[in-house]
Amino acid sequence: MRRSFFCSHRTLFPRSPESYSPRGRMAPKTSIAEFRELVNKSNRILAVCGAGLSAASGLPTFRGAGGLWRNHEPTSLARPEAFADDPALVWLFYAWRKHMALRANPNRGHYALAKLAMKKDNFLCLTQNVDGLSVRAGHPDSKLRLLHGSILDLECFNKCGYIDRLNLNDPPCPALAAASEDYPPDQTMPLLDPNVPTPKIKVQDLPHCPECKTGLLRPVLCGLDDAMLKGIDDWIEQGPIDLMLEIGTSATVFPAAGYMHEAQNRGAVVAVVNPDPDSAGGLMPDDFFFQGSAAEVLPQLFEGVIGKTDENGDTAPN
Ligand code: NAD
Ligand code: ZN
Repeated sequence: MRRSFFCSHRTLFPRSPESYSPRGRMAPKTSIAEFRELVNKSNRILAVCGAGLSAASGLPTFRGAGGLWRNHEPTSLARPEAFADDPALVWLFYAWRKHMALRANPNRGHYALAKLAMKKDNFLCLTQNVDGLSVRAGHPDSKLRLLHGSILDLECFNKCGYIDRLNLNDPPCPALAAASEDYPPDQTMPLLDPNVPTPKIKVQDLPHCPECKTGLLRPVLCGLDDAMLKGIDDWIEQGPIDLMLEIGTSATVFPAAGYMHEAQNRGAVVAVVNPDPDSAGGLMPDDFFFQGSAAEVLPQLFEGVIGKTDENGDTAPN
């Protein structure tokens, strides 16, 4: 299977009850006990995570309230063309997201997934999140693929090959300090108010590549590199998939939506974890729907395998 992707919002497999039959004619299962048995006996498990996994850590989803950033679509700002056009504006957006991500902590959902990954040999987690929280929760690298890159990884926009992983500088450089300011909850941060002009930032004051010296550094986002995609394809093609976890994602962004469809074609039972009842649209009677926050639901679902998880991610065996 070969693809040529970039992160795009294309509704390939719309999740409404009528949209693809016969899924959705009957309600999916909701029994935690029954699901725990399935997790116990499942060998190959694929998880696809979205922004909802990090919602309980205080990071907003794009679909939620305040989806726009200073009247800009976040997905438009993420395009290389936007960076080439106005690197200072796009860097302010990235620097603000990086600050939010570093200020946040992994929640019990991240920890539960990381623990499941340690217990299950044939587990692969594909996350669309760029916040670094799964990595910080200790999810083993070999069982985690960052589909859309990471706000903490920087690469040279000149493509000279320079990469800086897990860069924790906050702000990324002094010129971007406005993006790292903290305001009380009852005050709007000036950077987020489209009526307040952004600070004037010279391009030469933005982070530059230490290797070629000329290129700007930019977070590795939407970096769907061929080697990663091939690795995921290889894993999927190894055989039937027992269980597909669909966690906190609206399942509309490519390529995640495509992987979910492929897992179903390989026989996977689907389990959706999401507070939005519409996200259960189209599930089959053998599938599962757990309505709620991933931070609350995942530790319960995996308890039989990983034990009880506390808010620090520590587990005690049953
Ligand atoms: P999305 O915004 O399209 O959908 C989020 C989903 O999470 C929704 O279905 C919502 O009902 C659900 N949700 C909300 N709170 C939840 C909770 N507590 N527990 C479980 N589910 C919850 O997000 P997406 O599907 O990830 O796709 C949007 C794109 O946005 C992706 O490309 C992703 O990279 C990017 N994004 C990433 C972050 C992050 O890194 N934290 C944040 C926002 C957006
Ligand atoms: Zn360079």
